[in-house]
Amino acid sequence: MQKTTPNNTQDTTVYIGLGSNLGNRGAYINKALVLLGESPGVKITAVSSIMETQPMGGPENQADYFNGVVEITCSLSAINLLFLLQSIENRLDRVRHEHWGARTIDLDLLLFGAEILKINDPNLVVPHPLMHKRLFTMVPMVEIAPKVIHPELNQTMTEIHDQLLAETQKAESL
Ligand code: AMP
Repeated sequence: MQKTTPNNTQDTTVYIGLGSNLGNRGAYINKALVLLGESPGVKITAVSSIMETQPMGGPENQADYFNGVVEITCSLSAINLLFLLQSIENRLDRVRHEHWGARTIDLDLLLFGAEILKINDPNLVVPHPLMHKRLFTMVPMVEIAPKVIHPELNQTMTEIHDQLLAETQKAESL
């Protein structure tokens, strides 16, 4: 298990995925951004466009999602940021019924600077293990951070996005 200090001495640039497919999706995303921006140690530096996407995986007949990405600078450790994101989810009526089920708000820690973290308890994996496989994450990442490098894949967000788009289009044409 990896040890982390409670707080960073230096601010880290962090990307967080935003998702909602239950209730007033736009209002939940806006409220999450307000709560995040009001949190000590967090400064919002960019917000992507919010796009409507079809659910990937999870139970059938879920409503479409609103998805986007927010960039912050942060003086918290990755673990403390995860706890903050979970407390914001809980404040915004998030109820965990089933894995990948409908949710008022989902906040995913995508990138924490150039760090690669695998922590078991609490569970935290950074970069987020599915970010490079999801167009609903990579499209907004390209909008606000096209040149940022994925520290495990050593590719820019644009390169990952373009590859994923080509693979998706190929799969759809089969
Ligand atoms: P979800 O239901 O998609 O919100 O998944 C939440 C679970 O994923 C929690 O138990 C987290 O501890 C775990 N998790 C692991 N890595 C991450 C990450 N990078 N961002 C958010 N949650 C994560």
